[in-house]
Amino acid sequence: MVFICSLGNELIWNFLSMDQIHAIYNGNFDNLEDIKVSPLSRAYTFSDSVYEVIPFFNNEVIAFNRHIERLQYSCRSMNIDANIDQSSKEILQLISLSKIKDGYVYYQISRGVDPIRSHMYSSKLHAETFGYVTSHKFEEQTLKVALCEDIRWQRCDIKSTSLLGNVLSMNEAKDQACDEVIMYKENKITEGGASNVFFIKNNRIFTPSLSSNILPGITRELLISEAAKHEVKIMEQDCSLDDLVKAESVWLTSSTKGLAPVSEIVNQNSNLDVSHPLFKKCQNIFKDAYFKE
Ligand code: PMP
Repeated sequence: MVFICSLGNELIWNFLSMDQIHAIYNGNFDNLEDIKVSPLSRAYTFSDSVYEVIPFFNNEVIAFNRHIERLQYSCRSMNIDANIDQSSKEILQLISLSKIKDGYVYYQISRGVDPIRSHMYSSKLHAETFGYVTSHKFEEQTLKVALCEDIRWQRCDIKSTSLLGNVLSMNEAKDQACDEVIMYKENKITEGGASNVFFIKNNRIFTPSLSSNILPGITRELLISEAAKHEVKIMEQDCSLDDLVKAESVWLTSSTKGLAPVSEIVNQNSNLDVSHPLFKKCQNIFKDAYFKE
């Protein structure tokens, strides 16, 4: 089947069946497995790239503009010269082409393909873009987590694909049958391996305040503002490890997990209520705002 899709002023013809189109590389729609990437892509040699995960539910994209703004922030922080308007269109096209109702788009922008591998990049590079769409079930998950020292670099506010600290820590946690980690730096909670952290102590809700050690999670931001509309105050401040361990309820947030309660922190004497009324209230507020069937 011939499918025509318009990208800006350009008409691109893809000789593909609609069900096969799941990805886009440098502006060309293709099957994910047919995309060919140079090994000299700086995404490949240096993880010199940034990304977004943009969720959609019931055909509605959740906080699309916020994801695009964060993508722009990540590109600017890395001095990657990207065409964000073009990327925004591609993300929406991936969703509409896929015919998937509930899922997410993974979208990555690298600095480009370098003629040689060198830490110092050429100023003539063209940003390289890649995205794919996939279905996802937004179901409540209960998580078992491990605590670990935050061993990452000091610009975790950039959504970079350089995630080795997260990968190492999360796989150590996997060996202890955990689903996630909660990281700390100098006794202060930073965030999860792929999520932000919230907890309840003395019936008040806390989350670590943003810094260059934390990704400004979109779910975190949406929850804080939706909760405020319902007079549920969430305190953003420094949070100690001790506060977390003594918490009555802990949950992690992300675009794919939503609000996921923590049932156990391994090797700690925590007593966590996964159905704490205040947590349930937050979960319902969030669901009503973004995940209404
Ligand atoms: N922190 C880290 C390290 C993450 O990888 C993620 C998930 N992308 C988050 C926080 C949550 O961000 P968001 O709510 O935007 O998905």
